[in-house]
Amino acid sequence: MTTHPPKFTFDNTYARELRGFYVPWEGAQVPSPQTVLVNDELARELKLDPAALATSEGAANLSGSHSPDGAAPLAQVYAGHQFGDFSPQLGDGRAILLGEIIDTHGKRRDLHLKGSGRTPFSRGGDGKAVIGPVLREYIVGEAMHALGIPTTRALAATTTGEDIFREGHKPGAVLARVASSHIRVGTFQFFAARGETDKVRQLADYTIARHDPDLADDPEKYLKLLSRVISRQAELIANWVLAGFVHGVMNTDNMTISGETIDYGPCAFLDSYDPDAVFSSIDEGGRYAYGKQPVLAQWNLARLAECLVPLINPDDADDAVRQATNALNTFPALYQDAWLKGMRAKLGLATELEQDIDLANALTEAMKGQDVDYTGFFRQLATEVGDDGASTRALFKDGGTFDHWFEHWKSRLQLETATTQEITNRMNAVNPIYIPRNHKVEEALAEAENGNYERAQSLVQVLKDPFTEREGLETYAKPAPKDFGPYRTFCGT
Ligand code: AMP
Ligand code: MG
Repeated sequence: MTTHPPKFTFDNTYARELRGFYVPWEGAQVPSPQTVLVNDELARELKLDPAALATSEGAANLSGSHSPDGAAPLAQVYAGHQFGDFSPQLGDGRAILLGEIIDTHGKRRDLHLKGSGRTPFSRGGDGKAVIGPVLREYIVGEAMHALGIPTTRALAATTTGEDIFREGHKPGAVLARVASSHIRVGTFQFFAARGETDKVRQLADYTIARHDPDLADDPEKYLKLLSRVISRQAELIANWVLAGFVHGVMNTDNMTISGETIDYGPCAFLDSYDPDAVFSSIDEGGRYAYGKQPVLAQWNLARLAECLVPLINPDDADDAVRQATNALNTFPALYQDAWLKGMRAKLGLATELEQDIDLANALTEAMKGQDVDYTGFFRQLATEVGDDGASTRALFKDGGTFDHWFEHWKSRLQLETATTQEITNRMNAVNPIYIPRNHKVEEALAEAENGNYERAQSLVQVLKDPFTEREGLETYAKPAPKDFGPYRTFCGT
């Protein structure tokens, strides 16, 4: 058992280069920080000894109680459209950026603590987080990573020894998370809303240096930055939709410039396929419903475009708007291409035919209102490559709808040169069998609230390899039992 404290090597460009974009800030003292989950693999990627993170000094570092040497802790400022309404003053209200670490691949990563106490941006909040939402972000984020979806990642979950009031008392906790940066659409909006164009430019230059360094000397760098963010987000949202993921709170302050999924609050994975699925208790209008995510992403990107307009052409606003609009208009096609590419893979197609879009759309159309488990469907379908479809048909309320689509798929498969087994294998390589099923996540969180982290740990372990079926894990592959009822999530506070 290691007793050495962790040794972090920071290089803090945000603190050094972006004065005026944050407030230097320390985390709050907490009574008894204890690291309950550590991401060993990610720790090593950050050149950290996982065992050292679990020491008392490690827990103090990861709870915000004691900043490690070399850290430059700060609270970032940002704004954001929340459910369509602009909030000019948000920011890290319960989080701090400890600093940046260059990982073993030479990539710069932010180390950020969520739940580390009040900051100047806390407004009415207590600055804290509780174990349930911290572990939900840990579990779901790691599942997304294993599914190959860009995301911030959890490095550790640390309990604080405090009781926090949230519909009763809950154990306080802090999530240590890692991101390629925490620059959000809302970070640009904060300065743009105040008419501080120089700051917007400074932020854009910093962002380009950090995420798109090849654009640094490009005369159209700001327009191209916008286009890059548009393509990254188109790809990301397509990945969400392909995986059946509903983010739940796609406010512009929760949309990254890097294209990573961020801020897992009231998120959930679909059981039954339903474009109108909403899990968040606060999304009463269904603004961020499963099927609306692409449209809302484009809306958010338009807010980013507005911020960049004065940089795109400082002399001619009409021209800048035209260029930004053209860039935004590429989103639907980029999204559809990414989605179709993913759907082809899910359906076992290695060749690309133009009419595949009809096959893909016909499938989602056929699934509507059928109570079909979205994730289970594709795994079942993979068993039918050389078969008659009966076992997949049984998943539908009305088998007739499926039969029609199945024939279409079967005739399309004729055009593939692979063997039945090869097609099955490649379908199983992209269609997960294990996702963070809502009832499984809830079970793990409920136990963690009572101080038992075993279920959370095993769930993380199972989800690390979502594609390989393993004996003994049958319950992880099943949709929620009927008595679980409709699923509701609450904002990640
Ligand atoms: P979120 O919904 O988690 O993306 O947060 C939206 C805004 O509310 C951000 O500025 C957060 O920092 C802030 N916030 C959320 N929860 C709290 C809290 N418990 N205390 C202070 N600020 C919070
Ligand atoms: Mg947020």
